[in-house]
Amino acid sequence: MKFNPEKCSLPDRPMEVFIDPDEIREHLRTAKADKHAVRDIIQKSLNKERLNLRETAILLNADDPDLIAEIKEGARELKKRIYGNRIVLFAPLYIGNRCINNCLYCGFRVSNKESKRHTLSDEEIIKQVEALEDNGQKRLILVYGEHPDYSAEYIAHTVRLVYSIRKGNGEIRRVNINAAPLEIDDFRTVKKAGIGTYQIFQETYNPEAYSWYHKGGKKMDYSWRLTSLDRAQEAGIDDVGIGALLGLYDWRFEVMGLVRHTNHLEAVYNVGPHTISFPRIKRASGLTITDKYFVTDEDFIRLVAILRLAVPYTGMILTARESPRVRDEVIKYGISQIDGGTKLEIGAYAKKSLNEKQDLNAEQFEIEDSRSLEEIIDELTDMGFIPSFCTSCYRKGRTGEHFMEFSVPGFIKRFCTPNALLTYAEYLCDYASPQLQEKGWKKIDEELKALEQDGYNTQNLISRLERVKLGERDLHL
Ligand code: SAM
Ligand code: SF4
Repeated sequence: MKFNPEKCSLPDRPMEVFIDPDEIREHLRTAKADKHAVRDIIQKSLNKERLNLRETAILLNADDPDLIAEIKEGARELKKRIYGNRIVLFAPLYIGNRCINNCLYCGFRVSNKESKRHTLSDEEIIKQVEALEDNGQKRLILVYGEHPDYSAEYIAHTVRLVYSIRKGNGEIRRVNINAAPLEIDDFRTVKKAGIGTYQIFQETYNPEAYSWYHKGGKKMDYSWRLTSLDRAQEAGIDDVGIGALLGLYDWRFEVMGLVRHTNHLEAVYNVGPHTISFPRIKRASGLTITDKYFVTDEDFIRLVAILRLAVPYTGMILTARESPRVRDEVIKYGISQIDGGTKLEIGAYAKKSLNEKQDLNAEQFEIEDSRSLEEIIDELTDMGFIPSFCTSCYRKGRTGEHFMEFSVPGFIKRFCTPNALLTYAEYLCDYASPQLQEKGWKKIDEELKALEQDGYNTQNLISRLERVKLGERDLHL
C-alpha cells in the first residue's frame, strides 16, 4: 500500500515524501535470510553494486550468529579492498544552542529550563577556532540549534569567519554544517559561503515515531525535514549528509530508511549522500525517553556492517558519542570519518582541559570518548590506520570523491593515500609529541614502501613530504 501522508496528518509539500513505511515493513516482514541469499548479497556488494531495499532487509533479518559473522567479514573485506586504511579526522564546533524545537531526546530542547543558552560571539568563535587549529584540526562541522538567530545569513557569516582564521600553520580547510532545514534560497546563501557537507539527520524515518518525539517548533514537520536535502540539491548543494538517531524506533526500520533516502537522492539527483551518520542516543540534560528502542553494542556493530554493504560508496561517520572500545571495533567495518578531541560545551575548546567532566546542562548530550586528538591519532597509527586531514577532492573540484574512490581504478593510490600521508606529515611536524613523531614517520615510511610494492611511483610524493618537513604546507594532489 502506498504511504498516505494524510493518514499521518503530515502537511502537503511540493516535494515528494519518498518514505513508504508500509513498503519498509513489508520487506522486513517477508525477507527470508537464508544462507545462500545472504552470501549472494554480500558478493554483490563486494562486486561494487549498491544493494536494494529487499536485499538490505534480507541482511537485516539474518539473525543466525554464523551469518552475522559472515556479514561482518564481508563489510571488513569491502572496507579493506576498496577504501584502504585511511581514517579522516574532524571536530564538531557548537556555535549556539538556542532552539525553538522540543525534541524529547535533546538537551537543547526549548522546554529544558536547565539548559544554559549561549551563542558564540565572533570573538569567541575566533578563540575556539584558534584553539582547534593549535590542536591540529583542519576540518570542522559547525553545529547550530534551530532559532531565528541562526538565519542562513548568520550561518554563512560564521562559515566565512571560520575559513578566515589562521593561527601559525593552522587553518580550517573544510567547514561542514549541521543545522536546521532551510528554504531553497537560504541553502543558496549558505552554499555561497563555501560550505563542505550540509548534514541533516531525519532522526527517525517512521512518521508516527517522529511525531511522538518532536513536540514543538518547526521540527514537528516530518516532510519538511525529509525533503530538506532535496531543497539543498535544488540550491546546488550536492554534498549532503544524512543520518538517523538510533534509539527512537526499531533500528532495522531506520537502516531501511537510510538506504531508501540514499536511493532517492541517487535516483533524482544522480548523486547519493556524501556521508551517513548513525548516532546512538546518549544521556542528555533532563532526558526522559524510554529505552525500549535503544540499540545494544552488538546490534550497533551489526548494523554498521550492513550499512557498509548496502551503500558501499558512501562515507560513514562515527562520533565520540561512542566509547573508545566500540569505536575501535566498529571502525573495522567501514567507517571513513571520526571526530577527535571533541568537546561539546559551547566555548569549551579554548578553556578546558580535555578530561574535565562534562556539564550536561551546557551541552547537547554526553560523549563517551574524551580522548585528545593526539591520543586518537596515536591509537589509529597503532591499529594500522593512516590518520588523514585530507580536503583535496573538494578543493580541486573532484566532487563525488567516495564514488571515485570506489569506481576509478587506482584513485586511492593516486590521490587518497598520498594526500592522507601529506596531511599526516603536516600534523607530525606542527603538533605531535616527539613520541608520536617517531611512530608517525615510521608509519609513513611503511606506507611509502607499500605504495611502491603496489607499482606506484612515489618520487613526487617523497619530494612533497620533504618539502613539508622544510615548512611548506597544503601540498595536496
Ligand atoms: N538543531 C539542528 C537539528 O536538529 O537538525 C542541529 C542538530 S543537533 C545540534 C545534532 C544532532 O544531534 C541531532 O540531529 C540529533 O540526531 C543528535 N542528538 C540530539 N540529541 C542527542 C542525544 N541525546 N544523544 C545523541 N545524539 C543526539
Ligand atoms: Fe533543537 Fe536540534 Fe536539539 Fe531538536 S535536536 S532540540 S532541533 S538542537
